[in-house]
Amino acid sequence: MHVNTHAVTDCVIVINCGSSSLKFALLPMAGESIHLKGLAERLGTPEAVLHTEHDGIKRQNRIPHATHREALQAAAGMMEGLRPRAIGHRVVHGGERFTGAVRIDDEVMAAIGQCASLAPLHNPANLTGVKTARELFPDLPQVAVFDTAFHQTLPEKAWLYAIPRSYYEKLGVRRYGFHGTSHHYVALESARLLGKPLEQTNIITMHLGNGCSACAVRNGRSVDTTMGLTPSEGLVMGTRSGDVDPALHQFLQDQTGMRLSEITAVLNSQSGLLGISGLSNDMRTLADAARDGHQRARLAIDVFCYRLAKSVCGLMAALDTIDALVFTGGIGENSAGVRSLTIAQMKIYGVIIDETKNTSHGRNDRGVISSAESRIPCMVVPTNEELMIARETLRLIS
Ligand code: ADP
Repeated sequence: MHVNTHAVTDCVIVINCGSSSLKFALLPMAGESIHLKGLAERLGTPEAVLHTEHDGIKRQNRIPHATHREALQAAAGMMEGLRPRAIGHRVVHGGERFTGAVRIDDEVMAAIGQCASLAPLHNPANLTGVKTARELFPDLPQVAVFDTAFHQTLPEKAWLYAIPRSYYEKLGVRRYGFHGTSHHYVALESARLLGKPLEQTNIITMHLGNGCSACAVRNGRSVDTTMGLTPSEGLVMGTRSGDVDPALHQFLQDQTGMRLSEITAVLNSQSGLLGISGLSNDMRTLADAARDGHQRARLAIDVFCYRLAKSVCGLMAALDTIDALVFTGGIGENSAGVRSLTIAQMKIYGVIIDETKNTSHGRNDRGVISSAESRIPCMVVPTNEELMIARETLRLIS
């Protein structure tokens, strides 16, 4: 038998570019596993480093002062045996222009640039990723997959802020929502696990990672979500406050003399779980500390779960019927404690958890963690944004 020792696997590269970081993953075009993935971080500094994982083997290479281009070049050097055929980019903000993924051309790049006023930290970084990838792989088709796109089906009553309409008309001030790729993927997976077509699936998905958002999915489409104009709105997150009184900025400015930008920075990076606990933004650390009697860690978890339960109950207004409450993201998939405490605060809806199923994260029960008597089933459905981006990329290039 002839054995081809030079077998190559055709792959899609998925890129998520931040201002000083570049995450990438290579997924085979035929299949769903990740062959090679990596994260280059602290780019542009002496501490720049590239972490990679190739077929399960982890490596770390120092790449002092590396730029995004050099980081991607270093990654490309590791792609032996893998043949990139297309590139899919995560792009944070697609405004009202992008209601789904698109092939990238000059005009699309300009439009992504125009959305930068809505995501000044993210969209320029995402564009850097696109430009770098175009330089290094000029022959490969590139696709943009937007975090906002899945939520473009929100009805106006859900996306309009109760402020003078001219701010929407002139500046695009409205609720957009984020984590759309994750909510969409999890909705598809939930439908599959429930044995229903997506178009007949009604669920509330909770993406709980460092950033957190929940989404009401009605007949397979997003009809409301907790994030708004920016990813700051809504739930309590790792370092973000989520909803606060709109008069808070003025109050803090009057009382402390802080500038608006400083107040925003506090609400974005020193608040949430970190702000309440004074200890950490990481749920694992807080869960361990709470177990050891750390009062503020306990309180941070309490506030997190209460606010989550309250928001989920609010999202019920967007649905007439519901098939499941679905947890995902690092916290949603792994913290039985957070799920249990959140569900315990929705008793009025007749939601009952099964602690045995919950402790094993629903893995033996098609994701289900609620008891047979629960009026609404509860599930854990792991998200996979890289896979969703790869699928969307393939759909658009074929
Ligand atoms: P990102 O939003 O950056 O993708 P993740 O989805 O990986 O983040 O979620 C990170 C969060 O998940 C952190 O708060 C982390 O502590 C939490 N997490 C991960 N594993 C566990 C676990 N076993 N128990 C509790 N929390 C966990």
